[in-house]
Amino acid sequence: MFNKIKGTKDFLDLSLFNFLIDQVKKHLSTYNFTEISTPILEPLDLYKRSLGQETDIVSKEMYIIKSESDQEMICLRPEGTASTVRAFVENNINSTPWKVYSCGPMFRHERPQKGRYRQFNQINMEIIGSKSINQDVQLIKMLERFFFDTLSIDNYALLINFLGCPEDRVKFKEIFKDFLENYFEKICSTCKIRKESNILRIFDCKNESCKIIYKEAPRITDHLCQPCQIEWTEIKNNLEYLSVSYTHEPNLVRGLDYYQKTVFEFVSQDLGAQSAFCGGGRYDKLVKEIGAKEDQPSIGAGMGIERILILLERIKDKLAIPLLPPLYVILPLSKEEQSLALIIADELQAIKKAISVDIFLEEDSLKSMMRKANKMGAKFAIIIGSEEKENKVVKLKNMITGKEDILKHKELISIILNN
Ligand code: ATP
Ligand code: MG
Repeated sequence: MFNKIKGTKDFLDLSLFNFLIDQVKKHLSTYNFTEISTPILEPLDLYKRSLGQETDIVSKEMYIIKSESDQEMICLRPEGTASTVRAFVENNINSTPWKVYSCGPMFRHERPQKGRYRQFNQINMEIIGSKSINQDVQLIKMLERFFFDTLSIDNYALLINFLGCPEDRVKFKEIFKDFLENYFEKICSTCKIRKESNILRIFDCKNESCKIIYKEAPRITDHLCQPCQIEWTEIKNNLEYLSVSYTHEPNLVRGLDYYQKTVFEFVSQDLGAQSAFCGGGRYDKLVKEIGAKEDQPSIGAGMGIERILILLERIKDKLAIPLLPPLYVILPLSKEEQSLALIIADELQAIKKAISVDIFLEEDSLKSMMRKANKMGAKFAIIIGSEEKENKVVKLKNMITGKEDILKHKELISIILNN
């Protein structure tokens, strides 16, 4: 026997999954996003360059693929933004803002736990080539509408922070470094290393004793240049204007290096430690970094499908999940009636009507076939015995009421068509 790879998941019932994807597609199209699809395989350097060497993803979570014949370093994509930007640059997209989204699996070699997989699915949306900070406001409002109105998730919070421009960050890093001098002995060894290598990453530390210290740390939003200060105020004002409730989380930096200015996360207590089900932010320098001639200020977000599914599982009775089409099962009572059953099934499957048709081809007693049909949730059984075959009729049995009708083949089809 083989077991699935650690940190992966089998989906045996996709109804909630498909419902979510379907809803998100409809929602995004209302906001003029179009769907794209990029490969799962990408060059390793794309992520080294964009996410930053010091990030957890690049430093220890990449799945790198070795092909026998060429030397290329290929990896399984760990996130969606870098590939979308690669596609933007490589395909010479010149009409901006480019509002696109994609759905699919991502791969990270993390420690598997509740809500954390090594292969997981994301819906990733990006607005490439838009400087306006109100684009950030609209993206956040769009997400809030989706979670709250469309999906009826209510036990969540929206955390926002503003990281300023690169110059603000340079200044702030010094201020933060000074603050850390007084606590150096108390912080964990990872934070000690990050103080030198990538100091803002320190805010990602999950260590409780470190987190308590950083609660007292200086806030980057208190050290913004004037234009950034104006933008930060504008975001807050416009979110309030659109009635979006948010919490300013001064230590939210997000795990990737390319973010600047706005960063945000939707979190829910119902998810336990892996509380974020959607996160995003602004990345104004990444597009040029990946190879475009000019900077294209951009913003994007990623939703974690598996985590949203955990939230939906609790409220699924309230959701308008589409019902499966009614199932008709055809029961040929012996081998002699099987060819007729095949023809009738074929005719029913060809009519333009949302029904599902199956045939029992394992010869069995009527009683046990009926039991099986019941178990499968069939709405109707179409019984064909030797007598029915001879008289060119079928017996249609309503599995709920038990009512039986003897029908000619044409009558059967027209009843189903008009049902
Ligand atoms: P986390 O807070 O869990 O470390 P992240 O900041 O690394 O998340 P992003 O890279 O921003 O996550 O991805 C966006 C979303 O994808 C997250 O908010 C989360 O819902 C989901 N996600 C990230 N990593 C995983 C994973 N290993 N398994 C399942 N979902 C994940
Ligand atoms: Mg992570």
